[in-house]
This record gives sequence, C-alpha cells and structure tokens, in this order.
Amino acid sequence: MLDSAVTSKSGMVTKVHTRIRTDLFKNNYDLVGKELGRGKFAVVKKCVEKSTGQERAAKFLRKRRKGQDCRGDILNEIAVLEAAKANPYVVGLHDVYETSTEIILVLEFAAGGEIFNQCVADNDEAFTEKDVIRLARQILMGVAFLHWNNVVHLDLKPQNILLTSAQPLGDIRIVDFGLSRCVDATSELREILGTPEYVAPEILNYEPISTATDMCPDVAMSSRNPLVWRRSIGVLTYVMLTGESPFLGEEKQETFLNISQVNVDYSQDVFHGVSALAVDFIQSLLQKNPRSHKTFTVPSASGPVTRPDSTRKRATAEECLDHPWLNTHLTSLAAPTMPDEQEASQSESEPESPAPSLGLVS
Ligand code: ADP
Ligand code: MG
Repeated sequence: MLDSAVTSKSGMVTKVHTRIRTDLFKNNYDLVGKELGRGKFAVVKKCVEKSTGQERAAKFLRKRRKGQDCRGDILNEIAVLEAAKANPYVVGLHDVYETSTEIILVLEFAAGGEIFNQCVADNDEAFTEKDVIRLARQILMGVAFLHWNNVVHLDLKPQNILLTSAQPLGDIRIVDFGLSRCVDATSELREILGTPEYVAPEILNYEPISTATDMCPDVAMSSRNPLVWRRSIGVLTYVMLTGESPFLGEEKQETFLNISQVNVDYSQDVFHGVSALAVDFIQSLLQKNPRSHKTFTVPSASGPVTRPDSTRKRATAEECLDHPWLNTHLTSLAAPTMPDEQEASQSESEPESPAPSLGLVS
C-alpha cells in the first residue's frame, strides 16, 4: 500500500482510503473488447475480473501530464469517488492499481454507454419524456448528494453521464470526477453554487473542445463553466428531450453568442409533443439572470406561489427536484403516451434520497 498525500490545494483532497495496489492489474483482470472511451490523459477499457467474472471499466490515468506530476489530481478523483460511494447514481469504484507511469481505477461498468448516444439516436430509440423525467431526477439526486457532501463535479455533460443499460433503459451513473473539487467551508460552496452571473467560457481558461465533444460543442462549453451546474442540467435535459443542442450555432462564434445571451429555441418545432412543464423546467435552469426578475414563482403544496425577488434563493439541486415537472405523473403530461406506459410509476425504480439535506446553499 502506498502512502497517500494528505494535502489540500484549492479544494483538492488527496487523502484516500482505498488500498492502492502495486501488484499487476493484468494478474487480476482481463481486458476485453475495444476501448470504451478516452480523454486527454485517460483511456477507459472494458475488463473482466478473473476471480468473479464481473465486467468492469478500467480507467488508465497517466501520472505525468505535460511534464507535471499529476498524481495528486488522480488521488483527488479517487477521494471524490469514495465520498460519493453511498450514492447509487455515482459510478462505483472497486479497485485502484498503481504502476510507475499510471494509476488504474477499476470502476463499475456502465454497459449502456453515454446518454449522449441515445440523445442523438433514431426515433424509436430516443428517450420518451417519461424516460427523461426519471433520468433527470437521477442526475439531480446524484448532484444533490455530491453537494450535500461538499463536492462539486464541474464537468457535467452528456459524455460524463452514463447508463447502466441502453435497452431496456437502465439508470444513470455519473462519471469523470477529474475536475471535481471538495469545498470544505459552507461559504465557499455557497460562492461556487450560488453565483448567478454567467461567466463566458472563453474567459475561463478551459481546454479547447476536443474531438470527443465535436458533436455537441455547445453542451461541452456551457457545462465547463464551474459556476453553472444548473445550466448543465438544463442543457442536458434539453438535449435528452429534443435531441438538439440548445446553443449550437452554425459556427463557433455564434454558439458562444448563444451561450452568453442565452438564446434558446423553445418553439413547437423543437418541442413538438413535449409538455409545457418540461419547457418550464428547462427555462428555470437556463434563465440568464434570475435576480433581475421582480417576482418569481415556486411550486408549493397548494399550487404555484409567486414571491418577490428579494426573497429569491438560488435553487439547490434538491430544490430543482421539487419542480412540478419532475413530480408529475405521466397522465398529466400533455405529450401523447401509450396507455400501458401510464400505469408504471416512476418512483418504483428510484431509491429514497440517500442523504439528509444539509441546507448548504440557502
Ligand atoms: P476523461 O477524464 O478522459 O473524460 P472519463 O472518466 O470521462 O475520462 O471516461 C471517458 C469515457 O469513457 C466516458 O465518456 C465514457 O464514454 C467511457 N467510460 C468512462 N467510465 C466508464 C464506465 N464506468 N463504464 C463504461 N464506460 C465508461
Ligand atoms: Mg469525461
């Protein structure tokens, strides 16, 4: 077992509890099939644990990047996965191996792949609104759990939201905690989660859009802004419901403009057959500057209540879960549905919220 650093640099936690193995990964796992995915410094491959026959995903992370030792970043990724292990919607971590050049994370295998693929799928494989409600709830429950534990993901995009299975449609697994940070002080967390102003992506020094994000660059760009996790969820929901990207322009410049001006097409052309409540949910997440409104409407047990802006609170992930759309039974949705779909209750497949609210962002 290797010693783990216990230092913290700008929200990075490098104290990990998982035993970091130095025996050979290959002795215990067989690599199978082709690559599952790759980023700048990592490649993810499917593997099978020899002793159990269990399928897993092995994420091979390079320790040296651009001449810098990045072991601390990888330990941070491990620490965040450990902190979130009680949540069913965050990918499970099973094993960690270290070689002279790499750290290998052995993760729960999400066989359904990226939700992105299904967003752009042909009609009969595309998500129904009922599917999207269930998946959006799961994403929000995962994000709420992270926030309760003072963790911010910072890279929520369709490539980092996976499915346990595609057909039949399974459950969400949030992956890729490479940019995640632990925010210890409540005030710091408030600052990150509660900053309403949009910061244009080009101002923040993010890496250029990689080929992996080519098909959906606006989603990637907007989700890379650490201050706007709500926007990421709004964008994700938009893409899941319509198969289109809300901000995507003909050219990059137009896309940037659409993002910064929050130019979003809510027309019937795009939202044909989608309920008005769904559009309201997306609008509530994508609005430009919520504080500029004189009043705002919140759902309550006795119906929507309008409050003056002075009492406005930035919605937490938990509060987003209260939106009527996410609590609507399918029969009350405007979108046409098959009779047998109406019987199934979405709550059946969802466990109770996994942790009490700490009320961190008020
Ligand atoms: P990076 O930091 O390089 O973006 P990710 O953790 O996002 O690495 O993994 C890259 C890709 O590999 C993901 O977008 C996904 O397609 C695939 N992948 C990652 N983890 C898993 C997993 N547990 N099961 C199946 N596929 C995975
Ligand atoms: Mg990724």
